Amino acid sequence: MWTDCMTMRVVITAILMLSAAPTMRAQSPVDSSLAAYIARIRAVDNHTHVNSLAPVDSESDALPLDGLPAFPLPDRLRSDSPAWIAAYRALYGYRYDDLSASHMNELRAMMKSVMREQGNRFPEWVLDRIGTEVMFANRIAMGPGLAAPRFRWVSYVDALMLPLSTRSERAASPDYRALYPLEDRLLGRYLAELHLAKVPGTLDAYLRTVVTPTLERQRREGCVAVKFEAAYLRALDFGDAPLATARRVYARYAVGGVPTHSEYKDLQDYLFRYIARESGRLGMAVHIHSLEGAGGFYRAAGSDPLLLEPAFNDSTLRGTTFVIVHGGGMYAAHTSAMFWKPNVYADISMMSVVYSPTMLAGILRGWLTQFPEKVLFGTDAFAGGPDAGWELAAWIGATSARHALAIALTGMMRDGEISRARAEEIAMMVMRGNAAKLYGLKLN
Ligand SMILES: [Zn+2]
Repeated sequence: MWTDCMTMRVVITAILMLSAAPTMRAQSPVDSSLAAYIARIRAVDNHTHVNSLAPVDSESDALPLDGLPAFPLPDRLRSDSPAWIAAYRALYGYRYDDLSASHMNELRAMMKSVMREQGNRFPEWVLDRIGTEVMFANRIAMGPGLAAPRFRWVSYVDALMLPLSTRSERAASPDYRALYPLEDRLLGRYLAELHLAKVPGTLDAYLRTVVTPTLERQRREGCVAVKFEAAYLRALDFGDAPLATARRVYARYAVGGVPTHSEYKDLQDYLFRYIARESGRLGMAVHIHSLEGAGGFYRAAGSDPLLLEPAFNDSTLRGTTFVIVHGGGMYAAHTSAMFWKPNVYADISMMSVVYSPTMLAGILRGWLTQFPEKVLFGTDAFAGGPDAGWELAAWIGATSARHALAIALTGMMRDGEISRARAEEIAMMVMRGNAAKLYGLKLN
């Protein structure tokens, strides 16, 4: 009887404790001293479209999306998102929680005065404010205010893959209609830089006198990587097209006419692998856009990193380092599968802006559990309008990425998967160490 009574008391006490539990303060998902440690790490941002100080900077993206038919933006990219107000407050001392017209006028005046005060140092001032030591600038060309070692160039190479008429390719989607002409124009610029008026008549001459010299020039001018935005133009299924086929297609249409889609795909596939191989030879990594957006006619299915597996498995490309930029987005688990290839990495750019820290933390935890040496910090900072300069997106991405990393590593520590020391080591790797190793950067 007595023991029954005791049992009953234990049960009642347990029930009382359980029912009291929800009213107790929930444990924060972030270890505050680990978060403070991560906040102090000087970062390498693997991917941005930082603006130069040129009065009208039209070189920050080879495929700016302003020309696309209108499409909805994810919530965190909308101008009334709390993320932007937080960025205004952190960078410019904005004092409000709303975006009323008079407050916005005050903000614009403040932005102007900071720009004027900082002058040519503005881009570096931003890096100091957000804790970034080195920012990669994925741009058509560098420009005033963007000097090494703080800013490093990542060029564009899709145009080199498109030497023939893109007329029938464009017809396949309203987005393509807007984007292909931009690649035609960029190829024209690359040709002009080589003092050529048009592409040569044979593939061999094109490779020797256009593709390789352009990549060599980019390397000479400080390029650390080249970037493919191909998923905006086609699927990422780059096959292993025979040289003879590529030669035949090229020679037939270099002089005029429009290749069929399958003919052009063979040539593009050959050129993709050639460009990747040459980039590796020259010591430049190959960045590839992989994400579920952007655009109302964008083909998310074509940007799955698994489509890149045949190219990643090409043994002649093992001297080339590939970086899946934006981490594949919704395909993050597929990206993780590609980490088994010794030369494949990924960054968290754009995910750090459009996903919440909690969402991104889930992705990071999966990746960091298996391949922590393959994960790179990134923001994809770009200018989204007159009140949304690149520096604001850079702040949002950097703040959110650090928060996400703290959540993921705190979870791993609390579940006994890693020690405190290892959590700090992984944070350092993601924020800067992995990039330093991959690109051979000398950091402070
Ligand atoms: Zn980008």
